[in-house]
Amino acid sequence: MLKEECGVVGIYSNKDVSSSIFYGLFSLQHRGQESCGITTFDGYFHTEKGMGLVPEFFDLKKLEALNGKIGIGHVRYSTTGDSKIENAQPFVVTHSKGTLAIAHNGNLVNSDDLRKKLEADGQAFVSTTDTEVIAHLIVREFVKTDNITDSIAEVMKRLKGSYSLVILTENELIAVRDPLGIRPLTIGNFDSTYIIASESVVFDVLNVNSYRDVKPGEIITINEDGLKSFRPIKRNRKAYCMFEYVYFSRPDSVLNGISVYNVREEIGRIHGKLDDMKADMEVDFVSPIPDSAIPFALGYSKQTGVPYKESLIRNRYVGRTFILPDQEARELAVRLKLNPMLSEVAGRRIVLFDDSIVRGTTSGRIIRILKEAGAKEVHMRVGCPPIKSLCKLGIDMPTDKELIASEKSIEEIRESIGADSLRYLQIEDLVKAIGLKKDELCLGCLTSKYPVKISKHEQVLLPSFYDTSTYDSST
Ligand code: SF4
Repeated sequence: MLKEECGVVGIYSNKDVSSSIFYGLFSLQHRGQESCGITTFDGYFHTEKGMGLVPEFFDLKKLEALNGKIGIGHVRYSTTGDSKIENAQPFVVTHSKGTLAIAHNGNLVNSDDLRKKLEADGQAFVSTTDTEVIAHLIVREFVKTDNITDSIAEVMKRLKGSYSLVILTENELIAVRDPLGIRPLTIGNFDSTYIIASESVVFDVLNVNSYRDVKPGEIITINEDGLKSFRPIKRNRKAYCMFEYVYFSRPDSVLNGISVYNVREEIGRIHGKLDDMKADMEVDFVSPIPDSAIPFALGYSKQTGVPYKESLIRNRYVGRTFILPDQEARELAVRLKLNPMLSEVAGRRIVLFDDSIVRGTTSGRIIRILKEAGAKEVHMRVGCPPIKSLCKLGIDMPTDKELIASEKSIEEIRESIGADSLRYLQIEDLVKAIGLKKDELCLGCLTSKYPVKISKHEQVLLPSFYDTSTYDSST
């Protein structure tokens, strides 16, 4: 399955912030489960970061050690750089004029070029991430100008790709979103507390009612003088990642003023309208692959009147990743994670929803499990159009060749996954369901046309994230 990239939180307050950052990160756990970290400032910088889930890594002792009324936090799934403690964030860089901590969600496509230039200039690195590249670039400018906003604005001219950043200096919290707004970033406040977060769900958890999106290309600084906004780079177009709406973001988040849940339900309705037009379509119920496909199936049910039922029960305690040696073990892992409801499935004709089909292997296994449990027909409906190209902007995907839709026709995919019928969403319908204009969205992995120009050289340098020896048990 596709992996979320990262999540960031930053808080400026008149009381200690570590526990609020902890809860914020906890609510963004779906965006990254490999490592997590928090940096706070109370005259000194304090950092706790490590591998694992937020509630597993942080305990009361660690949170109590994180003194300060200003701080940033990060959950990580590696998109560039390996999965190791050195790459956990926030990064803290000490320089001749002070210290700066930074946490990043996104992926630079020119990170290797920038890094090589810095290395040629004598810069040492402690990690393999693009975040550290951004940190050193900003510090180098700041040492020259003594103005953090100008320094960031200058560095933004050189960064290519997606970046939503929270930055902590000795007296202020800063939010930065790339000029295309590819990855989400929001800001909220109550009383004299300001919160920056990847998704609005953080504001729900922290009981904050007033929030907005950080604008594409915007720099926001928050210090004792209050909030200031700068927009040094403005582009004619935006490129919000369509996958945040389809799969990555939590359904209870609102992105760019649009409810993620409503988008998913509308996608289900669109599929429902198309099936309603088919005279020969007779099914017993509609069902999601839990949990991400639930709103699609509910929308479909509302549109068509076809009953909504659970056909697969997810075991929420199964670990995230297995190294599994053979086919039999992989089949067993799917059953362990998703068990079919025999009483509901046997003899039934099912419309089955999934958010996307990546390699097709998991979809095929799930359909096989349902058929073995006695399902008469399984009609697969997909919450997005066929994924044909690798994401170059911060989402972990298999290489182009391993994406089933890059080489196979829809009929070939249907046959390969064993569905009785298969329908993807059309790109136009996806755009309609989100409710933004086409040139406000990134659709790169669907169309192979990316909103950022990527040179041949940079394409070669892009990492291949897919490790064939690893089976990810999440769907
Ligand atoms: S290429 Fe696809 S997954 Fe990547 S940012 Fe664009 S829409 Fe999102």
